[in-house]
Amino acid sequence: MTIFGDTNLTSTTYKKHISFIKEIFNDQAFIPLHEPKFRGNEKRYLEDCIDTSYVSSVGKYVDNFEDIVSEFTNSKFAIATVNGTSALHLALEIAGVVEGDEVITQAMTFVGTCNAISYCGAKPIFIDISKETLGLSASALEEFLSKNTKKVNGECINKISGSKISAIVPMHTFGHPVEISAIIEISKLYGIPVIEDAAEALGSYYKKQHVGTFGDIGILSFNGNKIVTTGGGGMILCKDPALAVKAKHLSTTAKVKHDYLFLHDEIGYNYRMPNINAAIGCAQMENISNTLNEHKELAIKYEDYFSRTNITFIKQPTNAESNYWLNTILMDSESERDLFLNEANKLGVMLRPPWTLMNKLDMFKDCYDLNLENTINLSKRILNLPSSSSDT
Ligand SMILES: *Cc1c(COP(=O)(O)O)cnc(C)c1O
Repeated sequence: MTIFGDTNLTSTTYKKHISFIKEIFNDQAFIPLHEPKFRGNEKRYLEDCIDTSYVSSVGKYVDNFEDIVSEFTNSKFAIATVNGTSALHLALEIAGVVEGDEVITQAMTFVGTCNAISYCGAKPIFIDISKETLGLSASALEEFLSKNTKKVNGECINKISGSKISAIVPMHTFGHPVEISAIIEISKLYGIPVIEDAAEALGSYYKKQHVGTFGDIGILSFNGNKIVTTGGGGMILCKDPALAVKAKHLSTTAKVKHDYLFLHDEIGYNYRMPNINAAIGCAQMENISNTLNEHKELAIKYEDYFSRTNITFIKQPTNAESNYWLNTILMDSESERDLFLNEANKLGVMLRPPWTLMNKLDMFKDCYDLNLENTINLSKRILNLPSSSSDT
């Protein structure tokens, strides 16, 4: 049943959808996809950083922010980094990914996922996504591993390339949790570590457990467009104390503690989050429950509206609670999607298609991929809707 009485969507119908979106956002002239909101102690904490001169990568806000995120996600350890991509790079490195290895991930993701894999000298392998979660499909993963790999000296070797598969990186797309329990079970059978790219999923849960805490390591991003921002920032989540120590050491130029000498015991990175960024994060986290509630309320409005049209609204998967970071609809075809996209952007409503698939980018087009049927189909039909927090 549709309230518009036509199944063949026309420009007029799109205009109705666009009016609805404009109405939600109080008819602002331009409605962005996702903008940050500062409504708490952000300025106060920033001023404190400047007043005390602690603006750089040492300071109480960095420690506080790590504690707050560790408590919020119930992750044993949380190590703050300059951005989500560097968190992912470090996570892969401490998980043991080295040059010549292969890392399984999804083609529908932000380029940061595959860049981080490349920084380690490894190559991504693209496996299909699930229609329900929009993230890595457990059954496609199992199919790939059972058909194409063999165990040699406890390592999982790709029979086609002869390379070691040294990590699996599922991504919680737009905040919707993947079937993480099933993925972890499969990874254990094959002895491959799991690193969750939970960059978009702060405040998302699978069976009541925060995502990013199921795998050996998880990462979060606090980029300006994410659900909580520090300007730029990231976080490594893990439960193994040795990995946590290693992550912090490598993120701080592998500097050895000493009263005055500059000693570094390996090649490290300058990936530590500055105090001013963490200060913003601390203030943002004080309002996280409001932010999450507003995202959920917005999702309900969209769901209710689109349920009366022939457009599918993507709901949180079974067993999962999504942060609804970016609300997503599924159009019947690519041409309808693109028509709606054009129409909306002309009228100042920022709709966006998903990222160009990773296997279509020059850098990754030669990487192995296996039957990406859902990935290809969904990438043509997905449309992200304006999803900023709003307390109006
Ligand atoms: C945002 C994001 C990252 C990390 O991005 P940064 O901008 O480096 O913080 C990684 N993966 C995904 C899927 C993302 O959306």
